[in-house]
Amino acid sequence: MFRAAGNLSKSMLTSQRRFLNLQEFQSKEILEKHGCSVQKFVVASNRKEAEDKWMSFGDHEYVVKAQILAGGRGKGKFINGTKGIGGVYITKEKNAALEAIDEMIGKRLVTKQTTEEGVRVDKVMIAEGVDIKRETYLAVLMDRESNGPVVVASPDGGMDIEAVAEKTPDRIFKTPIDIQMGMTESQALKIAKELQFEGKLLGAAATEIKRLYDLFIAVDATQVEINPLVETADGRVFCVDAKMNFDDSAAYRQQDIFAYETFEEHDPREVDAHQFNLNYIGMDGNIACLVNGAGLAMATMDLIKLHGGEPANFLDVGGAVTEDAVFNAVRIITSDPRVKCVLINIFGGIVNCATIANGVVNAVNKIGLKVPMVVRLEGTNVDAAKQIMKKSGLKILTANNLDEAAAKAVSSLPK
Ligand code: ADP
Ligand code: MG
Repeated sequence: MFRAAGNLSKSMLTSQRRFLNLQEFQSKEILEKHGCSVQKFVVASNRKEAEDKWMSFGDHEYVVKAQILAGGRGKGKFINGTKGIGGVYITKEKNAALEAIDEMIGKRLVTKQTTEEGVRVDKVMIAEGVDIKRETYLAVLMDRESNGPVVVASPDGGMDIEAVAEKTPDRIFKTPIDIQMGMTESQALKIAKELQFEGKLLGAAATEIKRLYDLFIAVDATQVEINPLVETADGRVFCVDAKMNFDDSAAYRQQDIFAYETFEEHDPREVDAHQFNLNYIGMDGNIACLVNGAGLAMATMDLIKLHGGEPANFLDVGGAVTEDAVFNAVRIITSDPRVKCVLINIFGGIVNCATIANGVVNAVNKIGLKVPMVVRLEGTNVDAAKQIMKKSGLKILTANNLDEAAAKAVSSLPK
């Protein structure tokens, strides 16, 4: 929720892996396990599989939903779509549902949370339609301000919550929860009232909210977002859409959940980097950055911008880096055809500058380098590192400090 707009965060949506991100159907399987209310559904990768698994929902409609990691599917559009349908299609007819599956699978869906290229749909969910009377919004997330979990609730669900926050902030209610005590009955009831549940439904909604909170804690989530949490015409409460993120530091104790990870929607370079314990983030500029540590990455990008350049990516080699990983790091950051210069900025503490220098020299010797490379090394074993680069005879520009490195990188770009 409150996903910021802008290129960096858009690319992070599909590429960043700091928090495991699940598909809706996976989130709903988890919700179901924890006693929350979700509609019946099946998942399929093609029409045939859907027919084999077909589930009749009696009088209820079929809701065919594209499974991608971005929201806004309902209002999304398919590139080269022929039937004018979006990522959520509702119909009474089995045949129309099957045709919608054919229409969605293999096509790229563009929503306001994806880039213009969209995301390819490989799976659809066919869910039981529910007769929606009202759509509300509920999220549980870890909040920096209150140093713990917060429930964000709004009676105006179903739509763009960022727009609600902007236009009618008084319609968004926040309830910090004491992580030691958990959610109390009275807190759950207060939130249910804020969501405007009434009468008999008030208790049912409070129970659902409490379950969602307990689930959030039990699975080490950083976010559980239900938009919409609905009230049906026949007086029930349902989680109609679900988005969950998990704390990667909890992977060791949430192995069932982390086993869901498929990497299908990640940037292939980022998956490539991940195999070598490297963190790669792609951006839109033309200067590739190889750094150690997220702080140094930010400082490097700031200085590139200050000197009038734009980063193409950054790759963080972390602390325990090997020559082989450095080799792969250089290979990955230079594989982007937009890259017109490489800037290596390493502050050696735990990292040994000589390891970096050997890895870089190796990579350049093997892959060749078609663009200028600026290297700034400082710290552990820096003299040995400088010798290694000098001896290599390669055309590597060196810099004595970060500012000089950024300036050299920007001025080495083709005019
Ligand atoms: P997204 O947020 O990606 O657009 P949602 O799952 O929230 O996708 O679906 C968008 C809208 O479609 C919902 O707000 C709801 O009005 C409708 N919808 C989705 N699933 C169902 C369902 N099972 N039954 C009835 N309506 C649904
Ligand atoms: Mg939604």
